[in-house]
Amino acid sequence: MAEEAFATELRPFDTQWDQICGQLKTEFGATAFDSWLKPLVIGDFNNGEMNICAPTAFMKNWVVAHYADRISKIWEQKNPDIKKVNFVVETRRTDTSLLKKITTAPTPQNIYGCNINSRSFGLVAGASLENDVVKNNAVNNAAPLNPNYTFDNFVVGKTNEFAYAAARKVAEAKNVSFNPLFLYSSVGLGKTHLMQSIIWHIKENDPNRNVIYLTAEQFVYKFVKALRYKDTTAFKEQFRSVDVLMVDDFQFMGNKGTTQEEFFHTFSSLVEEGKQVIISADKSPTDLDGIEDRLKSRLVGGLVVDIMPTDFDLRMGILHKKAELMGVELPPKVAEFLAQKITSNVRELEGSLKRIAAHSQLLSGKEITLDMTQDVLKDMLRSIDRKTTIDEIQKKVAEHFNISVKELQSSRRARTVARPRQVAMYLAKQLTSRSLPEIGRKFDRDHTTVMHAVRKVEELIIEDPTLAENIEILRRTLEN
Ligand code: ADP
Ligand code: MG
Repeated sequence: MAEEAFATELRPFDTQWDQICGQLKTEFGATAFDSWLKPLVIGDFNNGEMNICAPTAFMKNWVVAHYADRISKIWEQKNPDIKKVNFVVETRRTDTSLLKKITTAPTPQNIYGCNINSRSFGLVAGASLENDVVKNNAVNNAAPLNPNYTFDNFVVGKTNEFAYAAARKVAEAKNVSFNPLFLYSSVGLGKTHLMQSIIWHIKENDPNRNVIYLTAEQFVYKFVKALRYKDTTAFKEQFRSVDVLMVDDFQFMGNKGTTQEEFFHTFSSLVEEGKQVIISADKSPTDLDGIEDRLKSRLVGGLVVDIMPTDFDLRMGILHKKAELMGVELPPKVAEFLAQKITSNVRELEGSLKRIAAHSQLLSGKEITLDMTQDVLKDMLRSIDRKTTIDEIQKKVAEHFNISVKELQSSRRARTVARPRQVAMYLAKQLTSRSLPEIGRKFDRDHTTVMHAVRKVEELIIEDPTLAENIEILRRTLEN
């Protein structure tokens, strides 16, 4: 397409992008904006998906890791036609003169071990892995595949060995042995990784098998679209002619009666024909909200496996594997430190490793040390170290103001009780990751009261230095 055609076609978005850039500059500061965001330009817009182009893969990865969520959110708010924002590498459109600052920056191969972008695509019924995959993805809205999510790259430990074995069995089996396979765990523990490992395995060893892999949200979207365009026959045919149907994040199937009914029929007909169905979710079938009972009972009819939170050994194993994939030298001390501290889930563990690696690469291969790790991750570590509970806050605040915890939780409105209560709510918001309703419940109040208390205390801190000092003392005792 000629350059001019681009320009005309993209003009309406350009003005909006200028405004968004203004907002990003204010939010992230001029230095970060100039280095990372200014070189970005708008690319194609198709089917509600907007492409934002970065001049190099390294820059794209950096933007994805640090700014993508925010940029997507602003776009979606600004222009409701935009349903999704993709970040792509495209030198042709971008102004490389803006790149001076990072010309010595490493390639993504150095940081991530392999170029994730070039092979991130969707897989749909009948689609061959190598052909037109990007096109298929756009047309069919299938979930993207990550080439790193293979069995080889999956580290097995006590907490996930059963899930791993089940996934391997399904991938290798010529005949269906359990149907469906239902995998569940909380976020970031490897469900998607295992699902995609199954696909890669099938495609390598049995490329003629038809696989559909998509998220429940995409299933709902496609079905609703088929209904709207009165195209449900094609929809049914597409889904019922597969050998393997994989639905990720089943908790997003939604409460919609007709969609669930359609899924139920698709599912039942596949199972009857001996076709494999694999589902992942964040809860067990019986605990899923908004799913009809008859569907739940079909879901438990195969094999249900969960992935438990990681243990220390598995975290160490994963760190070594990921460091190797990224081509990063990770000193044992640093690995141990990370494995001890970052216990919530693998995604966070990996995220912290990526941050350290990016930092070291950015400073021309600066050695990774414990000091540097603690410095780069200080925000993250601070919030992990803060294990303060609301109960503790109530106790300390009550003691400090010489009242009882009972009074703090009571409905008394006298200033001597009401003020400390507001302070306690404020500190609970500041020092814990609890939501407003959760905090409210601890005080027998609703979330609006908590919100009001937080605002009030924020005002008082400015107006009343004595109170500000009291709060500071409390904060310090609670944080130690
Ligand atoms: P979920 O789908 O359960 O939310 P993902 O499969 O997306 O989790 O995993 C989050 C990240 O953690 C991915 O990058 C994945 O590669 C990684 N991961 C999780 N478990 C393992 C494991 N056992 N070995 C290697 N990487 C893992
Ligand atoms: Mg997932």
